[in-house]
Parts: sequence; C-alpha cells; structure tokens
Amino acid sequence: MEQLTSNVFVETQIRGCNHGFVTTSEGVVMIDTPHKPSDALKWKAEIAKHGDVRYIINTEPHGDHWTGNAFFDAPVVGHEGVRSRILNTDISGLVASVSGFGPEEPALLEGYTPNAPVLTFKNDMTLHVGDHTFQMIHMPGHTLYQAAILVKEEGVVFTSDNIFHKVQTWLHEADPDLWLIALESLRALNEDIFVPGHGPLCDKGYLDEQGSLIVEWKDYIQSGIDRGMSKEEAIVNLTAFTDRYPMDVGQDGMAPRVMQMNVANLYDFLTVS
Ligand SMILES: [Zn+2]
Repeated sequence: MEQLTSNVFVETQIRGCNHGFVTTSEGVVMIDTPHKPSDALKWKAEIAKHGDVRYIINTEPHGDHWTGNAFFDAPVVGHEGVRSRILNTDISGLVASVSGFGPEEPALLEGYTPNAPVLTFKNDMTLHVGDHTFQMIHMPGHTLYQAAILVKEEGVVFTSDNIFHKVQTWLHEADPDLWLIALESLRALNEDIFVPGHGPLCDKGYLDEQGSLIVEWKDYIQSGIDRGMSKEEAIVNLTAFTDRYPMDVGQDGMAPRVMQMNVANLYDFLTVS
C-alpha cells in the first residue's frame, strides 16, 4: 500500500484492480475492493486503523473491482449498469474461479453473497463525506458502465480501466470510440494525480500513449477485416499485440487469451456497428 496524498491510500501491487481508500473527518470511503478474499481481509484490517468504512464506490462491472465488496459492511455506490451486472452474475462460476486464486480462498467464499451498489447513478453523482467531495462521472469506454471517481480536495482521480498504465490493455468489452472520448474527458479535468485501473500510478502524460494504443488496435483489426479475414481467422492470426506490454500483477500467461478476446470484441464492433 502507498500513501498518495495526506488522505488517499492506494494498492497497485496485488492481483486484481488498483483500489484505494480516502480518510475523511467522518470515516473512510473505499474505491473498489480487492479481487482475492484473503486480500480483502488484509485490506479490511489495514483500513480499520484509519476509521470505520462509510461507503464503497465501484468504478466498473468487472469482478476484479467488486468481488471484495462482500467482505465489508458498508453501502456501495456505483453506476446503475454495475449494479445490474453484479445482480446478474453467475455467482457459482465466480466462486469457482476465485477459489483457484489460492489455498485460503475456498473457505472464505463459503456462502458468498455479492455486495452490489444500492446507490446508483446514470451520468454523475456527488457524495459528500466529512470534508471530502467525491464526484462520480460516467465515462464509458473500457465498458459501457465505466466511471471516473474524483476526490476533489486531494486532486486525485481514480480513472478505472480506461487507463491501463504500462500493462496490457483489456478491450474485450470495449467501445473504442467512446474510450477515446473518455480519455479526452480525463484530460479536461483539473486533477492530475491518476490512479489507473491497472499498473503503476500516472498522470495526464500517459493519455496520449493509451489513446494511440486504442487507435492502433482498431486499425489493426480493421486491416484484417479489409483483407477478408473471418472473425475466427482474425482471432488466430492477429497476434501482434501479445508482447506489447507485460500483463498486470497475477495475470502471467494470460496474454494470448486476452488478446484473442480483444480481437473478437473489436471485430464485432467494427463489423456489426
Ligand atoms: Zn475492467
């Protein structure tokens, strides 16, 4: 864990998304939660030194951002699409997958019930806790339900997975055109301390590289389509990005599969729309 500002703490080094918490004069606000249950319990013990958890804010619908919510007794805030995705999750499948993360996980997942958002927004929402202001802004891209979380008094933005900083970018559910708009929305913010969804901390200086990568991905798949490739041929043959960046922590060996999912999604995006 590292302390980013006087009241913002983040974890970027463990399996799952980057997550953090903010200490306010009226308790702690968490932003996303650990993927692994045993990590969630360690995180809970750490946070307990700083106060009671008042709220959890989720930034997106993927399980690496919200599986750990269940280990905290606090109401969750998120985009309405995040709530519906969590409520429609195949929980036995999730439990089977996360159980494989380590020897301690199966016992911790007995009777697992997700903690889904009970306070939802569509476009934006502002939450005031003590002296702190949390602004949630819908920025679809990596998924349709992405949100950036601004911690106004700290100058910090949790960008969620619209930024993968120097690690492989997952586009398996992306709308690349909306994603490029989201990056410009991030650029337009006053705040410039970025906690990306994955990878080390960064700032606006990384937006150009993230945007270029998305354009490059889109052009690459379009070139396959233009050469007459079927979706299956594209998935097998369009492998140029496999070694572009390292995978994030705990995802070793997953690059070929992730790249295939990226190709499949972009192929559909470019041919159906
Ligand atoms: Zn994600």
